[in-house]
Amino acid sequence: MSRKTFTLSNELYDYFCSVSLREPEILHQLREETAQLSSGGMQVSPEQGQFMRLLVELIGAQKCLEIGTFTGYSSLSVALSLPESGKLVACDKSVDWTSIARRYWKSAGVGKKIELLLGPAIESLDKLLKDGHAGTFDFAFIDADKSNYIGYYERVLNLVRRGGLILVDNVLWSGKVADVSNSEDDTIAIREFNQRLRNDERIFLSMIPIGDGLTLARKR
Ligand code: CA
Repeated sequence: MSRKTFTLSNELYDYFCSVSLREPEILHQLREETAQLSSGGMQVSPEQGQFMRLLVELIGAQKCLEIGTFTGYSSLSVALSLPESGKLVACDKSVDWTSIARRYWKSAGVGKKIELLLGPAIESLDKLLKDGHAGTFDFAFIDADKSNYIGYYERVLNLVRRGGLILVDNVLWSGKVADVSNSEDDTIAIREFNQRLRNDERIFLSMIPIGDGLTLARKR
């Protein structure tokens, strides 16, 4: 569902990729391997990965957080842009998916920059808060189960520093958010989440129609 920016025609998307994508070989390999999985559509699009790499470099991020690692495309993208001293804390509950991610992190030589927290992410985030990490992260990416988005966001907002950047994936949900006849649980959860951020004075907000829709929230 998020393999390409869905507002572009196929022809324009191909052109867009041909003149703008600079996907490192290791990311390309991971994308190809993940595409073979039945849930392969969950990985972020290559143009979104590249955009995330740019953002990490732009803000000079040192300490990053990810909620929902899947097979590792976004975490590998972020880690490749981090300096040697940089660190990414990645949260996921799937041993199977993250075993693919681990293999690619190692192969790309970024394994030591990434700490994987296996288990329900709400618990991992609460532990980070308890362990004194509040206000210390520069960058965070939320891309896990949609019903918990608000819970993740509130904790992540606590964990990032003032001026830190939070990215939230799938906020346009293949267009279902604008379909009034759609009352699926995930669609409703994303609508509520989007509405909540629209009125959240604690952040500077921008929603980008890249991939399946990406929200940028900068903590004031
Ligand atoms: Ca996603």
